[in-house]
Amino acid sequence: MKSQRIVFAILLSALFCSTSLAQGRFHTGDPRPVIIIEGGTVVTMNKDRRIVENGAVVVRGDTIEFVGKRSEIPVLFRGRAKTIDATGKVVIPGLINTHTHVPMSLFRGISDDLDLNDWLTKYIFPAEAKNVDEAFVRAGTRLGLAEMIRGGTTTYCDMYYFEDAIADETKKAGMRGVLGETIIDFPVADNKTFDQAMTYGERFVRKWKNDPLIVPALAPHAPYTVSTEHLLAIKKLSDSLNAAIVIHVAETKKERDDILAQKGATPVNYLNRIGFLNDRVIAAHTVFVTEDEIDILKSKGVGAAHNPQSNMKLASGTAPVPMMLSKNLAVGLGTDGAASNNDVDMWEEIDTAAKLHKLISGDPKTLPAEQAFEMATIRGARALHIDTITGSIETGKRADIAIVDLNSLHQTPMYNVYSHLVYATKASDVRTVIINGQIVMLDRVLLTLNESAIKRDANAYRIKIINSLSK
Ligand SMILES: [Zn+2]
Repeated sequence: MKSQRIVFAILLSALFCSTSLAQGRFHTGDPRPVIIIEGGTVVTMNKDRRIVENGAVVVRGDTIEFVGKRSEIPVLFRGRAKTIDATGKVVIPGLINTHTHVPMSLFRGISDDLDLNDWLTKYIFPAEAKNVDEAFVRAGTRLGLAEMIRGGTTTYCDMYYFEDAIADETKKAGMRGVLGETIIDFPVADNKTFDQAMTYGERFVRKWKNDPLIVPALAPHAPYTVSTEHLLAIKKLSDSLNAAIVIHVAETKKERDDILAQKGATPVNYLNRIGFLNDRVIAAHTVFVTEDEIDILKSKGVGAAHNPQSNMKLASGTAPVPMMLSKNLAVGLGTDGAASNNDVDMWEEIDTAAKLHKLISGDPKTLPAEQAFEMATIRGARALHIDTITGSIETGKRADIAIVDLNSLHQTPMYNVYSHLVYATKASDVRTVIINGQIVMLDRVLLTLNESAIKRDANAYRIKIINSLSK
């Protein structure tokens, strides 16, 4: 009798333990809201590149709690969840735009068909000097954010002035951002001296450091616009704050040649020599880099942002992306500012990157679709040093997700999902977007931004900008 009781007790405790373990994994008492996305093709971009047909993703609070078959959704989530039917659609990690100057959306199309030097010095710098203030930055940021969310982008990396206002607008819109306050060796809209810029930068980083959406960064503009002394001071400040650094590197041949003449080394070698490079640095463009320099970037853990359309439009050159990928460098895709693109549409960037490098290499096997899509998702997250929290649909990661239609004419018929995502899908096919567990666009309606007010503000700035340049 006694032994029977012991056996019964063991069985009972085993049953109790296994039940509590199973439920414990999903924290049954957790009161946070639950969203179930079910019925779509889930392209996870996890390590195994798992794709789940008739799949499901369960989000609780800001976190992905379950990824799997629709038939396997844990029953405890049912009945208390908002359900999004993704049947016939594809569920993807939100896209990651690794390089922007988001307020420059207000300069979209202000001048085209010029090289970087003429474009910057004759148009962009004067237009900025006459127009950029905090209100301009806020209006331009809202415009850029609305365009990005509409196109399924859930994270972007920015570099501009009044970055504190950009962070504020970004948080209000519910977008994730790695945001860098620009520091440059001439007086600009928000800071007139280097010391002012450093004070602003430090205050900015301290203010946003633990925000769930914003990763604050310092953004020295480029090796050719910031002195060695100032680059070293910025590096020291970033070390003390453990802050990311965003910087343009080796964008043009002129930059490469000038830095070589002035510093006795090419941009990456120069930055390495002064001890500037580490695993918190995000280098935009890296067009004129050699194999040795790619090895330096890789060994220092630097992330790179490839901006194919901006580089093409300014005829800057073609970054050696296939070589970067062959060395497993963390290189993502970016649009650059809308003034040199002229949009912030990541779908165009993915498509362009995949095709550009085939043309340059003369080999159509270069940068296949899956690899191009990886650059816009998990590899882009690596480039921004935030791949532990975003870039793929995996249990435990933040819920940054886009749901994309697959039934438009230009997507019909479908044979391969990566092929369609890279070569056929448009930004207008994105239906619903979730960032950090919050639905920011539902069935193509923006929920955190007012689209008509954004357009009205932008058109008012157009007139103001035209008037400012005619004076
Ligand atoms: Zn840029």
